[in-house]
Amino acid sequence: MLRLYDTATGLVAPLGERDAGSIGIYVCGPTVYGPPHAGHGRFVLVYDVLRRYLEHRGLAVRHVSNVTDVDDKIIERAQVEARDWRDVALESEQQWWESMDALGALRPSAVPHATKFVEEMVDLVAALVAKGVAYETGDGVYLSCEAVDGYGLLAHQSLDSLRAGARVAVSDDKRSPVDFALWKKAKPGEPTWPSPFGPGRPGWHTECVVMSLELLGESFDLHGGGLDLVFPHHENERAQAVSLGRGFARHWMHNGLVTVGGEKMLKSLGNYVELADLLAGSDARAYRLLVLRSYYRSPLEVGEAALADAGAALARVDELARRVGSVGPAPQPPVAAGALRELRAGAIGRFEAAMDDDLATPRALGDLLVAVRESNRLLDAGDVDAGRVLAHTALELLAVLGIEPHAASERPDEHVTDLANRREDARRAGDYAAADTLRAEMAALGWQVDDGPAGPQLHR
Ligand SMILES: [Zn+2]
Repeated sequence: MLRLYDTATGLVAPLGERDAGSIGIYVCGPTVYGPPHAGHGRFVLVYDVLRRYLEHRGLAVRHVSNVTDVDDKIIERAQVEARDWRDVALESEQQWWESMDALGALRPSAVPHATKFVEEMVDLVAALVAKGVAYETGDGVYLSCEAVDGYGLLAHQSLDSLRAGARVAVSDDKRSPVDFALWKKAKPGEPTWPSPFGPGRPGWHTECVVMSLELLGESFDLHGGGLDLVFPHHENERAQAVSLGRGFARHWMHNGLVTVGGEKMLKSLGNYVELADLLAGSDARAYRLLVLRSYYRSPLEVGEAALADAGAALARVDELARRVGSVGPAPQPPVAAGALRELRAGAIGRFEAAMDDDLATPRALGDLLVAVRESNRLLDAGDVDAGRVLAHTALELLAVLGIEPHAASERPDEHVTDLANRREDARRAGDYAAADTLRAEMAALGWQVDDGPAGPQLHR
C-alpha cells in the first residue's frame, strides 16, 4: 500500500481510498500566460508517475488538473501586446500541451478551465456571504479567515504569525490582513462576469475549490501541487470548503521546486529554463529520468551534466531492450521455473517497496538500473533465461515510471554527426575539455563515441 507524506499532518501515512478501488486526485495546473518552464515539467512528471504507479497497483485513477485561463498575468500580457486575453491563454495552453506531450505525460482524465465554471464560483461566493463568513468591500468580496477552523493547518503557522506576515495594500478595506478575495470587482478593460456583487471575476483560490469539488466530490482522496502553492493557495482553498462545512481533500501532497545553479529558478535571476529549450537539446526521457532520480519533496537541480548522465543511462536501457528484442511493449517472460519466478518477484518486490515508501523513486530507479546491468551480466555469462526474465521485468517496471525503450535509429542524424565532427576537431586541436563537453551532449542524445584506429565510431 502506498504511504505518502501528508502536508497537513506532517506524517507519512497510507493514501486511503474514499471509494474502494479508485483514487481521485486534483493537481493545480498552469496559469496559461507564457511557455512552460522546467518547474512545470517537474510537477507534471511527479503526478504522472504517481498516477502510473497507482494504476500499476490496480487502482482506477481519476486525475483532474485545471487550466487557469483568466488571471492578472494573462490580462497584463494581453494589454502589453494589445491582444485579446483569450488569445494569450489559448496560445499558451497549446504550448503547454506540446511540451507535456513531448515529456510523455499522460493527459489528465479531466482538464477543467476556470472560465467554464464561473457560475458555480459565483454560487459558492454567494453561499459564503449568506453564511456570514464572507463580506463585500469596495473592490470585491473577501473571506473572513480568522473564524475558519484550523486556518494555518497546511502552512503549519499560527494565525498570529500569518497575520504578521501578510501584506496589506493601502487601499484594502479588508477586516483582517489574512482575508483574501473570493471575487474581484471589475476594473476598466478587464474581462467580467455578472454576479450579485456586481460584474467582476473570481479569485484564483475560489477556482480550484469549486472545480475540485465539482469533479471529484467532497472528501476526495488527494490534492497536489508544487510546494509554492501550500500557502496561501491551498490553505485558502481549504478555508472556503471548511467555512461551508464541506469535506475537502483527505491527503495533501506537494513536490519540491526546481533550482538552477543552486538557486530557485526565477525569470528575474536569468536562470529560467523553458521546457521547450530543455527538450530540444536532449532525449525528452532524460528530463523524466532526472526528475525520478531526485526525491519528489527535495529541490531538483537541473543542469546539462545531469541531463547528459541521464541520457547515458537511457542508452543502456535501450541497448538492453534491443538485446532481448523488446522494443515496444514487453512480452511476458517465461517464468515457469521456480528460480526465474523468484528473480522476477524479487525485482517487482523491491520496486514496489521503494515506491510504496513515499514514492522513493531514486531508490526504485537505482534498483532497476542495477537490474539492467545484472541482466547484461547474466546474458554475457550465457544464462539466457535468467538474463531475459530479469531484463523484461526491469523494462516492464521502467515503463511503469513512464520510461519506454527507444528503437535504435540506424544512423545518427545531421545534428549528431555535426557534434561528432566538432568533437573530433576539438580532440585533434588538443582541446579535450571541449571534446568532453561535446561527448556529453552526444550522450544526452543517446549516442556514444569510440575512438578506434579507423577514426571515431558512433553507436547507440
Ligand atoms: Zn489550484
